[in-house]
Amino acid sequence: MNEEDYRKQVLWFRKQAQDLILEKWVGSKLCPICEHTEWAAYEPQGVVPAIGDSYGITLTMILIPLACENCGFTHLFNAKTLGLTETPGEDFHGHE
Ligand SMILES: [Zn+2]
Repeated sequence: MNEEDYRKQVLWFRKQAQDLILEKWVGSKLCPICEHTEWAAYEPQGVVPAIGDSYGITLTMILIPLACENCGFTHLFNAKTLGLTETPGEDFHGHE
């Protein structure tokens, strides 16, 4: 995949993530730090282990950052719970 395609995927991903979060967000959108209300979603930068299932399998959780555009305070959302099953990269497909 070339850089331009990857960039397009990243921008598409951010928009999907942001739309899904805003759809679920019914509480106050005020940043708890600076009280601004502009937020931007970013692509996941990694995964965290989510241990504790009864089969002894180590699961991972993909986290989507949503950052205040004024101060940078960041919320993290579980991509799977949001309904995002694909992230930018080689295995990314299914959008036009
Ligand atoms: Zn803020």
